[in-house]
Amino acid sequence: MNVNQSVPPVPSFGQPQPVYPGYHQSSYGGQSGSTAPTIPYGAYNGPVPGYQQTPPQGMSRAPPSSGAPPASTAQAPCGQAAYGQFGQGDVQNGPSSTVQMQRLPGSQPFGSPLAPVGNQPAVLQPYGPPPTSAQVTAQLSGMQISGAVAPAPPSSGLGYGPPTSLASASGSFPNSGLYGSYPQGQAPPLSQAQGHPGIQTPQRSAPSQASGFTPPASGGPRLPSMTGPLLPGQSFGGPSVSQPNHVSSPPPQALPPGTQMTGPLGPLPPMHSPQQPGYQPQQNGSFGPARGPQPNYGSPYPAAPTFGSQSGPQPLPPKRLDPDAIPSPIQVIEDDRNNRGTEPFVTGVRGQVPPLVTTNFLVKDQGNASPRYIRCTSYNIPCTSDMAKQAQVPLAAVIKPLARLPPEEASPYVVDHGESGPLRCNRCKAYMCPFMQFIEGGRRFQCCFCSCINDVPPQYFQHLDHTGKRVDAYDRPELSLGSYEFLATVDYCKNSKFPSPPAFIFMIDVSYNAIRTGLVRLLCEELKSLLDFLPREGGAEESAIRVGFVTYNKVLHFYNVKSSLAQPQMMVVSDVADMFVPLLDGFLVNVNESRAVITSLLDQIPEMFADTRETETVFVPVIQAGMEALKAAECAGKLFLFHTSLPIAEAPGKLKNRDDRKLINTDKEKTLFQPQTGAYQTLAKECVAQGCCVDLFLFPNQYVDVATLSVVPQLTGGSVYKYACFQVENDQERFLSDLRRDVQKVVGFDAVMRVRTSTGIRAVDFFGAFYMSNTTDVELAGLDGDKTVTVEFKHDDRLNEESGALLQCALLYTSCAGQRRLRIHNLALNCCTQLADLYRNCETDTLINYMAKFAYRGVLNSPVKAVRDTLITQCAQILACYRKNCASPSSAGQLILPECMKLLPVYLNCVLKSDVLQPGAEITTDDRAYVRQLVTSMDVAETNVFFYPRLLPLTKSPIESTTEPPAVRASEERLSNGDMYLLENGLNLFLWVGASVQQGVVQSLFSVSSFSQITSGLSVLPVLDNPLSKKVRGLIDSLRAQRSRYMKLIVVKQEDKLEMLFKHFLVEDKSLSGGASYVDFLCHMHKEIRQLLS
Ligand SMILES: [Zn+2]
Repeated sequence: MNVNQSVPPVPSFGQPQPVYPGYHQSSYGGQSGSTAPTIPYGAYNGPVPGYQQTPPQGMSRAPPSSGAPPASTAQAPCGQAAYGQFGQGDVQNGPSSTVQMQRLPGSQPFGSPLAPVGNQPAVLQPYGPPPTSAQVTAQLSGMQISGAVAPAPPSSGLGYGPPTSLASASGSFPNSGLYGSYPQGQAPPLSQAQGHPGIQTPQRSAPSQASGFTPPASGGPRLPSMTGPLLPGQSFGGPSVSQPNHVSSPPPQALPPGTQMTGPLGPLPPMHSPQQPGYQPQQNGSFGPARGPQPNYGSPYPAAPTFGSQSGPQPLPPKRLDPDAIPSPIQVIEDDRNNRGTEPFVTGVRGQVPPLVTTNFLVKDQGNASPRYIRCTSYNIPCTSDMAKQAQVPLAAVIKPLARLPPEEASPYVVDHGESGPLRCNRCKAYMCPFMQFIEGGRRFQCCFCSCINDVPPQYFQHLDHTGKRVDAYDRPELSLGSYEFLATVDYCKNSKFPSPPAFIFMIDVSYNAIRTGLVRLLCEELKSLLDFLPREGGAEESAIRVGFVTYNKVLHFYNVKSSLAQPQMMVVSDVADMFVPLLDGFLVNVNESRAVITSLLDQIPEMFADTRETETVFVPVIQAGMEALKAAECAGKLFLFHTSLPIAEAPGKLKNRDDRKLINTDKEKTLFQPQTGAYQTLAKECVAQGCCVDLFLFPNQYVDVATLSVVPQLTGGSVYKYACFQVENDQERFLSDLRRDVQKVVGFDAVMRVRTSTGIRAVDFFGAFYMSNTTDVELAGLDGDKTVTVEFKHDDRLNEESGALLQCALLYTSCAGQRRLRIHNLALNCCTQLADLYRNCETDTLINYMAKFAYRGVLNSPVKAVRDTLITQCAQILACYRKNCASPSSAGQLILPECMKLLPVYLNCVLKSDVLQPGAEITTDDRAYVRQLVTSMDVAETNVFFYPRLLPLTKSPIESTTEPPAVRASEERLSNGDMYLLENGLNLFLWVGASVQQGVVQSLFSVSSFSQITSGLSVLPVLDNPLSKKVRGLIDSLRAQRSRYMKLIVVKQEDKLEMLFKHFLVEDKSLSGGASYVDFLCHMHKEIRQLLS
């Protein structure tokens, strides 16, 4: 037995247990028949019987059909027996989860003195010289502000340009997959008139500059329709930023008169050059002042016009900010991969910042939860709330309690403490964990969360070694690991009864639209085989989940598929106002027992409704029916709804089309995100009380009010999928792939999550797909391995550097076999009295995840412009505080960013210009609501790639290379027209083909002889037997496998009209909807920081 305090390299207990897809564990608690308290978790070592064979001793599970329906627990105060996890003694949390957007700006005026702290020059990454990758100093020095700067203009004036200026865009693209329709590649009106002096280039005005250029010979003119607004400093609108040195022959289109724009920036860096040091300005004649406009804010920042005059005489001629000299996401990602991807991340040390989410690494749990389960915005928390307010760095954790692990990592062990249940602190109810301190020879322990002294129960007693550690510490997961599970006793179950296995109910819209598109036939055919793949508990031979079927249009049809029947029986309920379940026996069945009847039903459904003329649908009564069926069966479960249209039939929850694009950019825009009626929330609460999770698959041809329809999935921990303009031939692969994954994924049901913290901080706010009836308990009718809950913390007392801060996330849930369990994740963080320590231990990807969720919730209550301004202000405050307190003294013209946050501006800009906060003309109201809903539950890896897409060149790396090619920055100037690129963001996948790609490459990949013969919008590559084709298709498969949703491929040809769709994702460039380019935004952020510091 290793008694050393330092954690042994390998825990001595147990072999890694078999790993199953998902989180579940094959074994729990002791061998059947053994309840000897001295062997509290005998199953820890070696193989053990599966759960079904070994229910806990002394506990009997009620048969599914007995007993009264469980009472609603949604309103049950914590402490009631319904959820014993959250017993007495819970510390009351503060304000409820509603957060005012106003809290950030203004709350910490930066004029007030900031406590200086020691400089940490060693960790600083100043932007300026010496020649690092972050040289913006020289360029930005043109932005000098004198000390006597006027007060900062109100941040409210910093919004982007109104998207309505794009109103001229029209037409539509073929269905792209994510979005239903897109406008033609019409250029937005040139808006030079809106250009303002901007922040640092007073030397010229936008219009004159725009008109003054003539195309350099090397610069290929582009499609006139693709030109963006001419803004000084902007890299001349999207397309006109052609890569002059890559455009070998100008495209045929001529520029329209008066809009002659070319790449004013002269030759740009060659492609694939993120690693290149960047070209030297002196090598580039076109960088001179006359041609190299300073990154400037045109219309996007209309409130900044006074800036130029503030700075008085312009000290320096404007210089172009070199895109290669500003922090590159690609470089940061690559560096982290190289530095941290080789060694496992060992969690034994408190406050360690894990590798980035983009780095592949293994985790060894040695006392703290893996970053796959919890990631924090900072791993070093300011000791005082004053410090925290000064820094404005949100303190938040993104928690994915049921995260899937790679096969190399073991699922959490299951611990059985017998009939007494998991050992907890008597006062705060925290669960036994590695941070509890055993004292008095092991007879008592002091709680690490609330300091309460507790007796150790006799059966749990163990001696301490000379260091005060229990000698069995490494034999017990709960004493040595960051993550583990406890088997819950009956006290943790509703109505003091063990739960029945959950049920899945498939509820299929059979109205005209669903039939016409072939959806119903496709779905029924798929279900026949998919039902064999319902989630199973580890070693189980078959799934314990029962299934049921409902079809509906204006009325509901229930099916009796009892195994003894020769044919399924249909029962129609037309009284949708007062929904009831017409049959109990035979509705929810075991798939294997009723296979013949189910198959017969699935064969018959498409035929039964083949000639339907019914176009109207109901929605709320459908969910109501499913929920009532689960209630009658006394089980939790999941509804899979396949729905096509706005539910306009007369019924509860009836909706009207209230889409109104005129509301965009008005104070009423928020109503577009709010549900149309309260009926959906009411229903969702009932569902949560029943443990009824709802997954919604939408197949709309037009507006269906996603904002309202997604309320129930959102509040029940469910998922929403949307297939606009669904056609079987184009979309079946995507739909079926999503469906298969969704049905098979392991889910915890009827869950409650509580996050406890050590004294000094507490959880105050929560983001995600769940429901909260009080301020502390996150209630999840269902929770799968993809969903995260983001928790924000605030100080309520002073923290201690020595003891640090502890988090414990406890999730009580019912497994897919009906076992009640508690999953515990613990994480210890450092605390600091120096701000520099905070800035050294931040994680920008997590910060962005939090900020995006905060902003996306904010649009429900505030104008999007106010939300954007809040983000900008907060970001500026974070960086200004660093500059003031942590950076070494330097010229005010230098932009100095903390190393850990050097990507904060570029990533934040991506959030600001995302469809939710800055909609383009092509984005529908439903798309925005959909994306908003998706982001709410995303983990850090998902938000990272969603906001900053991955762009992979295809032909530059050796054909035989099996690794992913190194990505390039998401900017048009990184594209070579002699290459092809894959772009993905977790939802969309494009293959961009440059116009000058070699003919042989075209032939190898598309089986056509020339670029012009490639079909634009193609979604499937031909299967060809050559290395390039295999490689590209393999890469596409690999990208898809990494994401939780199937990404439909769209082939985009350079200068084709579809290209505009693709360019939307080149997020470092200025967007057509008015979103700033990275360079522009960085300059703007610098200006904001300087105003705060002055
Ligand atoms: Zn306690």
